[in-house]
Amino acid sequence: MKTKLKSAAAKQIAPATKAPAPLKLELRKTFQFEAAHLLPHLPLKHKCRRLHGHSFQAEIVVAGECDPQLGWVMDYADISAAFKPLWEQLDHYYLNDIAGLENPTSENLAVWIWDRLKPRLPLLTEVVVAETCTARCVYRG
Ligand SMILES: [Zn+2]
Repeated sequence: MKTKLKSAAAKQIAPATKAPAPLKLELRKTFQFEAAHLLPHLPLKHKCRRLHGHSFQAEIVVAGECDPQLGWVMDYADISAAFKPLWEQLDHYYLNDIAGLENPTSENLAVWIWDRLKPRLPLLTEVVVAETCTARCVYRG
């Protein structure tokens, strides 16, 4: 009898059993590549019209629910694997020679990366392209 009462009391004060809302988190992974380019539509006197190079950084951002068992949104290695074929096309190349990058501004480069990466990386939410330490472009699809 005592146990039964205790059980009934416990039910009355126990919080509603509801699964906790999944944690939504964002991962950012940065890749660096060296490449040359010029911006062909600018006036001849503009410094970016001349052939020059950058140590570009591409930051790949994914967002999603954190797997409660694994404790992560996804494996960073899978982000690297998805970006690798693009990195191989960009690193130590003249960007203007790459199909779709005839005018390789940071803006066009971010879109070029997004278009090729999104099918392989469905959780992709943002591509950030930095051509210097102080200048970067963000594309969110
Ligand atoms: Zn440049």
